[in-house]
Amino acid sequence: MDLGIKGKRALVCASSKGLGRGCAEALAAAGCDLVLNARGAEALEQTAEALRRDHGVDVTPVAADITSESGRDRVLAVAGSPDILVTNAGGPPPGLWSDWDREDFIAALDANMLTPIALMKACLPAMMDRGWGRVVNITSQSVRAPIPALGLSNAARTGLTGYVAGTARQVAAQGVTINNLLPGIHATDRANALDGPVAEREGISIEEARARRAATIPVRRYGTSEEFGAACAFLCSVHAGFIVGQNLLADGGATNITM
Ligand code: NAP
Repeated sequence: MDLGIKGKRALVCASSKGLGRGCAEALAAAGCDLVLNARGAEALEQTAEALRRDHGVDVTPVAADITSESGRDRVLAVAGSPDILVTNAGGPPPGLWSDWDREDFIAALDANMLTPIALMKACLPAMMDRGWGRVVNITSQSVRAPIPALGLSNAARTGLTGYVAGTARQVAAQGVTINNLLPGIHATDRANALDGPVAEREGISIEEARARRAATIPVRRYGTSEEFGAACAFLCSVHAGFIVGQNLLADGGATNITM
């Protein structure tokens, strides 16, 4: 399917690896020129080079912490006013509900709620002026059903979801859509980082921990960044203009809900 976004300019945050990279790959395959971002310059440059080589699009990497104001300023100075914005950042650490104090919550809110809100506030006005824009926020299945060990993520991402629900309906008349894409378990570094402590606690190998977790997913496997990226690119396409303020689960059926 031609996504109709060839030549559009996309900013994809936190995209040297994992789900962000999957989104960047799919947008590059659709012919978008990209600004990519991550903190580590080396992996970021390698990803940028791979996308240029494989898809023949312009790719500009900006090494910066997207959760800091100065990092965002540097990224936005390069990205200007993109047609497409994909927000993403690392997820908060796991723990128990009783572990976290005010500073932990502030850090999680900063990274996973206030950062995407700041990026949207910066990018939406030009999209609205041009009469076309797409925003996809990478959140988590934890906004539909809480993950007990990820209380910081549950809290911060649900706050973002509430903001998007109201904001998406205020910008839609100008041709701008905002939607959230909710990953379930995907085979990325983040998933491996969460499997490690489980394996240690249970006294089993990482492979066994992964197999047990995969067995809890109806499709019986982890998702891939490629699948996730394809869903993101569709939400950014010309065909998705009537999809507004939605929360699309990409979780292999893991969240046991009717709607
Ligand atoms: P990942 O494989 O660890 O990749 C994270 C990417 O983001 C890397 O490119 C990393 O590069 C970059 N990054 C992290 N923090 C950043 C920051 N502060 N500023 C700029 N770039 C940053 O993670 P992932 O699995 O793709 O997960 C992406 C998001 O989805 C996370 O918020 C995660 O919690 C959420 N999620 C993932 C899953 C899953 O199963 N994978 C499930 C639910 C939710 P640098 O480290 O070099 O900055």
